[in-house]
Amino acid sequence: MKRKAPPRARGGRRIKADLRKQTPNNSYSQKVYYEDIVFTCRDCGVECVWTAEQQRLWYEQWGGPIQSTAVRCRDCRKQLQRAKLEQKKHMYEMAQKKKRNSGA
Ligand SMILES: [Zn+2]
Repeated sequence: MKRKAPPRARGGRRIKADLRKQTPNNSYSQKVYYEDIVFTCRDCGVECVWTAEQQRLWYEQWGGPIQSTAVRCRDCRKQLQRAKLEQKKHMYEMAQKKKRNSGA
């Protein structure tokens, strides 16, 4: 099951992947190497690069699912995280209020 060597990278950086560190998924083949990916942000439409190194971190350090890929630029990701955090805080406060109101 040896793969043919991929064609030479043109300009972009390529990092060899450590398959043992990836989170395998039956429906998706694992990544043999990482290469800079150009994508368009889903939220603001800006074109950005998901670098090979970021991919390696995502898949190997943080256990990101193999089928996942970057869809948002750094700014939009930050904004989304903030929104989620706010929501969490809001939920927590609501729960506290409820507790108080129920006299518990
Ligand atoms: Zn964006």
